[in-house]
Amino acid sequence: MEKTFPQCGKHAARGDWLPLLRATGADLAALYARADAVRREHCGNAVPIRAIVEFSNVCANDCLYCGIRASNPVPTRYRMPPDDVVSAARQIAAQGTAGTIVLQGGETPGDGDEIAALLRRIKAEVPGLAITLSVGNRPRDVYARWKDAGMDRYLLRFETSDAALFARLHPACTLAERLQCLRDLRDLGVQTGGGFMIGLPGETVETLADNVLLCREYDFDMIGIGPYVPNPDTPLGDQPNAYAGDPDMFFRAIAVLRLANPDAHIPATTAFDAVFPDGRDLALQRGANVFMPNATPGPLRKNYQLYPGKPCIDEDAADCSRCVQARLRALGRPVAQGPSHSLKRPSTGSIT
Ligand code: SAH
Repeated sequence: MEKTFPQCGKHAARGDWLPLLRATGADLAALYARADAVRREHCGNAVPIRAIVEFSNVCANDCLYCGIRASNPVPTRYRMPPDDVVSAARQIAAQGTAGTIVLQGGETPGDGDEIAALLRRIKAEVPGLAITLSVGNRPRDVYARWKDAGMDRYLLRFETSDAALFARLHPACTLAERLQCLRDLRDLGVQTGGGFMIGLPGETVETLADNVLLCREYDFDMIGIGPYVPNPDTPLGDQPNAYAGDPDMFFRAIAVLRLANPDAHIPATTAFDAVFPDGRDLALQRGANVFMPNATPGPLRKNYQLYPGKPCIDEDAADCSRCVQARLRALGRPVAQGPSHSLKRPSTGSIT
């Protein structure tokens, strides 16, 4: 009998996803095949490449799981000078594989004008390169200024849909505040990316289903999810991933996410490689459609270790660009040309 799945992209309840998040054997193979087919049908075979530049690890926040949290003395703190960020952007454009630069970093309140100036420079000096920014919760007027300066997209994971768990992990922020940021971004017409970590200590498979449902409710343009990896230099370091004994869960999550969000850009995130050999390649075959190679200058990478086992720490941007091309060739997936903006129609207003 043919396996049935909840109708793609339509609202489904927690109970509709739970059996898929528990699938094993032939059912699991069927889930992966279905997610891959939905990805192909809605996003095509070409893979948009977004090159990440981790432009600062200076952070005022103390998220309990994160390697660049303010209280961690291990990383040497850096802020890339604007000239270096612009030259990284030039290099990305010259390599010709990535149509987007993703600027990700720690959170330092008060840097709104500096970042706006940086966005303007990249837009002026490297025309045609789309810009995604990812620097945490900010007031709506700061997001608006960045949009005016050329920001195309913003990534802000909600990390978990469990408000109590969120509060335990983030000393300075609530889930409600983070969700407000995501609504502000969407209202401003910024292509908005949410997402979560898979397997935070204390979560259950029900939490995971709710995380997928929250992504569906917000109808994000992009959704980044990746396994939680305990970092021994953080207060959560001795608490294992909730699915440590069942790594298939990381891939069930990405497959179910694709079924629930057929038109979203879903990257095969770096953390998949940290927990599973060739994890990013497998993610691309089980629902993901985007690849995000690291384009941070080589010498800085060891100071942006959000978690241990992060790949490519000893490489540089040219290595990672070559590597992604080889990986995609091996999978028979061409590189998408151009910026690969959102596949959804422009936002029409607030989420109620
Ligand atoms: N300051 C920005 C960027 C943070 S790093 C922000 O908060 O949005 C980007 C993502 O890395 C985070 O959203 C989180 O989901 C992930 N991350 C951080 N520490 C991690 C860990 N120990 N394991 C797995 N992912 C982690």
